[in-house]
Amino acid sequence: QSTITPLIAGNWKMNGLSASLDEAAALKEALDQQPAACRVALCPPATLIAQMAWRLKGGAVLIGAQDCHAAAEGAYTGSISAAMLKDAGAGLVILGHSERRQGFGETDADVAAKVEAALAAGLEPIVCVGETLEERDAGKAVEVVQRQVSGSLPDSLAGAAFSVAYEPVWAIGTGRTPTLEQIAEVHDAVRATLEQRFGQHGSGIAILYGGSVKPANAAEILKVSNVGGALVGGASLKAQDFLGIIRAL
Ligand code: PEP
Repeated sequence: QSTITPLIAGNWKMNGLSASLDEAAALKEALDQQPAACRVALCPPATLIAQMAWRLKGGAVLIGAQDCHAAAEGAYTGSISAAMLKDAGAGLVILGHSERRQGFGETDADVAAKVEAALAAGLEPIVCVGETLEERDAGKAVEVVQRQVSGSLPDSLAGAAFSVAYEPVWAIGTGRTPTLEQIAEVHDAVRATLEQRFGQHGSGIAILYGGSVKPANAAEILKVSNVGGALVGGASLKAQDFLGIIRAL
């Protein structure tokens, strides 16, 4: 795991207008002064990507999108293609977030198709997986996550830059987190699945943890076996909170 460069990515979800870019700029300035020990990304709403790219130019903060369409272009009113996100200034894209799986009915196959589209456009995917509370209570967390990882990752990821984010659905935005043992169990299982599928390349893929990560719990979570960073929702909206997580590494 020591060869993996961790990634800490902030998911702004549907939050933020142009004034929020001041927070992104404050983050950039802080990291200009004292560089992070990991890769740092912000994933704002698509409407802010181009402006954010402009404001953060020359800094270390990477910019990501929160979703993309699986098709390269065409008659898909209201949708945004991976190439458009890349063109706007994004380098990464979150795919298969539980809010998309649950709210928009995205299946593993849909996510895999979007991953293909992202790769074709030169975007680095962050593929999200995670069990519901019902599945956890039924003792099926590892099984569900392994199935999602297998189904959401296309073969074309062999040799490509990507990461997987384990986000238990019941821990997202709730203030509840799994125990460190539960996080380790799932991350170890994801690592095994990645290695089985992609061999040595699978050993170097960062597996992020997501779900109520805060400055106060970041250090202990980021030390857990096979945790290679974090996907952060609420605590990424304010530069100070997000920095508290980044500095915990
Ligand atoms: C997320 O949306 O990916 C997330 C982890 O949210 P939060 O940190 O707010 O739980």
